[in-house]
Amino acid sequence: MTPIYLDYQATTPLAPEAAEAMRPWLDEKFANPHSAHRLGREAAAAVEVAREQVSAALQAGKEGGRLFFTSGATEAINWALKGALSRLPDSRRRVVTLATEHAAVLDTVEWLGRMGVEVDVLPVGPDGLVDLDLAASRIDDRTGLVAAMLVNNEIGVVQPVAQLAELARDCGALFLCDAVQGLGRVPLPLDSCDLVAVTAHKVHGPKGVGALWVRDGVILDPLLHGGGQEGGIRSGTLSPALCAGLGAAAKLLSERAEEDHAHVVKLAETARARMQGWILNGSPVERYAGNLNIRRTGVDAARLIADVRQVAFSAGSACASGSGRTSHVLRAIGLDDAEARSSIRLGFGRYTKEDELILALDLINEAAERQLSLAA
Ligand code: PLP
Repeated sequence: MTPIYLDYQATTPLAPEAAEAMRPWLDEKFANPHSAHRLGREAAAAVEVAREQVSAALQAGKEGGRLFFTSGATEAINWALKGALSRLPDSRRRVVTLATEHAAVLDTVEWLGRMGVEVDVLPVGPDGLVDLDLAASRIDDRTGLVAAMLVNNEIGVVQPVAQLAELARDCGALFLCDAVQGLGRVPLPLDSCDLVAVTAHKVHGPKGVGALWVRDGVILDPLLHGGGQEGGIRSGTLSPALCAGLGAAAKLLSERAEEDHAHVVKLAETARARMQGWILNGSPVERYAGNLNIRRTGVDAARLIADVRQVAFSAGSACASGSGRTSHVLRAIGLDDAEARSSIRLGFGRYTKEDELILALDLINEAAERQLSLAA
C-alpha cells in the first residue's frame, strides 16, 4: 500500500494539470528556449506564459517588478541575499532576519557574516512570532536588508510580514520575503516587499524550479554567471518544461484558492479534534491551517515515524530530521530537547482525503499509545 502522504511542507504532489503542461516540452518540443529559430521561440513563448502565470499568483500586476526563474527557492534566496548585499554601500552592510528562517536564509547570512556583513538574528516568542517592538529597535538606518518568511515550514506560523516590511522601508532597507510555504495560501503583501522567493514543488509544481520576484529599481549582482540568460543576470538554460509546470501550478493556486482553503481548514478541524492529548507548537491563531506541528510528552517522534510505516510524516523539518539535530525552530520557540524530540509535523492539503487523514491519525495515535504504555 502506498503510504498516506502527510508531509506537504516537505513537498507536495504534482498537480495533474502541471504534469500535462510539462509533457510537450519534455517530448517533441525540446528546443532550447534561448535559440533564435522557430522552435526555440516557441519554447521561449511557453516560458513567458509561465512567467505571467506566476506573476499573477503573486498578484504582481500592479507592482513594478520582474520575475526571474531559478532552480528553486534556495537559489532565489541565495541570489537575493548575496546579490543585494554585494551592491549595498559599506554603511548598509547589515542584515536582520529571524531565528526561525529556513536554512537557505540562515546559512546564507552566516556566510555573509564571514564576508564581513553584520548579521542580526532576531528571536521569536513561544508562539513562533517575532516581537515587532524588538524588530523596530533592531532595524535601523545601518540595515541594508531584512529577510523574513511568510509561513514557517516547520510550525506553520504566519509572521507579520507587512509590518516587518514597513519597518524595513522606513529605514531605507530592502525587504526579502521567503514566500515558499505561503504562496497562494496566505495573503502576501507584495506591495511592501522588494524581493520574493518562491518554489514550484511546495505548490503542486515540479521540483527544480522556482522564482525570484525583484522590484523595479532593486539592483542585484548575478549569482550565476554564464550565458547571460534572463536579461543577463541569471545565466543558465531555462527548462521550458519546469517553467510550464510552475506556471500551471501557479494558475491553479489562483483558480482554486477558495476551494483549497476551505478544504484545508476542514481537514485541520478534523485533525485537531482527533489529536487530543497533543500540544500544538506555535501560535494557534497566526497560522496556516495545513501545518499541524504537535508534541506529546513521552513520545519519541523518530520511533513513531519508523513504527507508522503506512503514513509519510515528519519530525520537524525534512532537513533537520535527517541530521539528528533537534530543529532550530522548535528550540527557538523555547522547547527543550525532550519536547522537540516528541514533536511531529503533519502536513496536508489539496489532494488529502478526509478519510485517509482520519486513518493516518488513528494509526499515529495507536502507535503513540503503544509507546507510552510500554514506557509506563
Ligand atoms: N524556504 C522554505 C520556507 C522552504 O520550506 C524551503 C524548502 O524546504 C525552501 C526555502 C527551499 O526551497 P527549494 O527546495 O526550492 O530550494
